[in-house]
Amino acid sequence: MLRIIVALFALVLFTAPADAAVKVVATLPWIGSLAKEIGKDRVTVTTLVKTSQDPHSIEARPSMIAAVRRADLLIYNGLDLEVGYLPILMESARNPAINPGNAGNLNCSVYVDPLEKPATASRENGDVHPLGNPHYHLSPANIKKMAIGIGERLAKVDQANAGFYRANTARFVAQVDHKMKEWKGRKLQGKRFVAQHRFFEYLAADFGFRIVGYLEEKPGIPPSSAHIQALVSSMSGHRPDAILSTEYHDRTISGFVSSKTGVKSVIVPHDVGANGSRDWFSLMDSVIKSLE
Ligand SMILES: [Zn+2]
Repeated sequence: MLRIIVALFALVLFTAPADAAVKVVATLPWIGSLAKEIGKDRVTVTTLVKTSQDPHSIEARPSMIAAVRRADLLIYNGLDLEVGYLPILMESARNPAINPGNAGNLNCSVYVDPLEKPATASRENGDVHPLGNPHYHLSPANIKKMAIGIGERLAKVDQANAGFYRANTARFVAQVDHKMKEWKGRKLQGKRFVAQHRFFEYLAADFGFRIVGYLEEKPGIPPSSAHIQALVSSMSGHRPDAILSTEYHDRTISGFVSSKTGVKSVIVPHDVGANGSRDWFSLMDSVIKSLE
């Protein structure tokens, strides 16, 4: 009898986490990575966007709808970065749990004070940042707020494991503080860069460097030749340290500007998975190394 009870207990132990796991759908790789780091074996995470894709131009697919339909918790970047596909997924999925206002819907941008917030939201001429700069995840200051937000939401959706999620969140935040001491010692302070896209502003604010020009005239809008000519001439006068772009950007223009000015062009890893990064910490290690 005892043997049967032990066997049954072992079976319950073995099967319970998988059966009871909270089904998380994350839009971007860094969000999926954070959810897994805090939820560990109590969550299953489906990430909709691949690192190789441009996060501004994702199309809704049937497999994404199926994932959102099954989700207990949908976690997304917000600030309209997912506006091209997420509303369609949510409408098609017909899953009340993940509708705005419910515990299963977490817009991470509510924890951020957005940079470059315009007085009035506008997509004039195709601007892809109508609510302010949505690329806040390369900031250690912001990522701690994200971790706490995700941990608290998991605790709400799955109250039986609230203590587990909070302990993992505290561990994550402590690791950010620990790594920040190492990162702050790196020589980024006072550097000057030209960027293809407005992607590095929160990072610049945390680490004390400046973005002094952009290849794009407005976020997501290809530059005119007049803009590039003016940029090349200003860069020749006061040379920046590098031109920054990401792996999903077309490198024709950055290559052209680099050849005209002699300023090196650098591909900065933009999300978890880029340059072989396994999680947000190895992503940041790689980002900082690329800027040195
Ligand atoms: Zn953008």
